[in-house]
Amino acid sequence: MSEGDGRIPLTIVGGYLGAGKSTWLRHALHVGDFAQAHVLINEAAELPVDHLLLAGAAGLTVLADGCACCDGATRFVAAMRDLCDRNVAAIVLETSGLSDPARIAAHIANDGVLARRIRVTETIVAADALHAAAQIGTEPLWLRQIEAADRIVLTKVDAAPPPLLARLAATMAVLNPEAVVSGAVLGSVVELPDTRGADPLPVLPVCGKSAQIRTVRLEVRAQAEWAAVSAWLSAVLQAHGNTLVRVKGVVRAPAGRLLLQSVRGTVQPPEILPASMTVTDEDNFIVLIGRDLDDDRISRSFAVLTA
Ligand SMILES: [Zn+2]
Repeated sequence: MSEGDGRIPLTIVGGYLGAGKSTWLRHALHVGDFAQAHVLINEAAELPVDHLLLAGAAGLTVLADGCACCDGATRFVAAMRDLCDRNVAAIVLETSGLSDPARIAAHIANDGVLARRIRVTETIVAADALHAAAQIGTEPLWLRQIEAADRIVLTKVDAAPPPLLARLAATMAVLNPEAVVSGAVLGSVVELPDTRGADPLPVLPVCGKSAQIRTVRLEVRAQAEWAAVSAWLSAVLQAHGNTLVRVKGVVRAPAGRLLLQSVRGTVQPPEILPASMTVTDEDNFIVLIGRDLDDDRISRSFAVLTA
């Protein structure tokens, strides 16, 4: 898990209030996931932390004063720096229910120390299967959480009828086409119904207009210069910071193969993939996910600037 560039891996576990983040995390710790990890819990409301959480974690810190993404950001950065000083093997952050994971990633990327020491390996977002249908239509924050996820866990799926579950899973595929979607009951993985033929639910119009999430996949030619690709990418992020939801990719560079990741305008320092991983031609690509992206225009500018 910590192979790569020596930065401490950070898993962000987010999700709206009542989504079942703690339950999911407690189960994950219980079955030995994150066994080496120090758990950092951000509780905006000061609830006593379930001592069972300690059972599977290497250590536990509670950040009870403010939300890590906004009013508690300074304390969050200080707590993370402290964990870096203690050289913990890995960190799992359970965010408050009102946190935007992308803003948390931005605080890390924008802090000189944390950017060098921390690597966000995965953002897991829990979504309550019973309430998601309503939240999709009313909660912009809920939507931002879903968009920031690498993995979406639909929780409490035993309480939702299968046709609704199928529609929810289909909706997640529209909102965040690259995320892995799974189901859970009390943290245990549960299979989701087939989404074929399931209609996505109506989604909250963002900024007054309903904009479709699109994916643009760009193949990077073998002879393309990394410097040109990198310059093009920063220009795109500058120009489309608000419409871009995610950027992912693997690009060959002089230093090795780089894993690129961004959530909205914030780019993580690229990670060098281990040389032992098999290289294929399909490994040289960039995927952009965003609202109403102009596929042709982006592809053309990419082809010109990286020719
Ligand atoms: Zn916040």
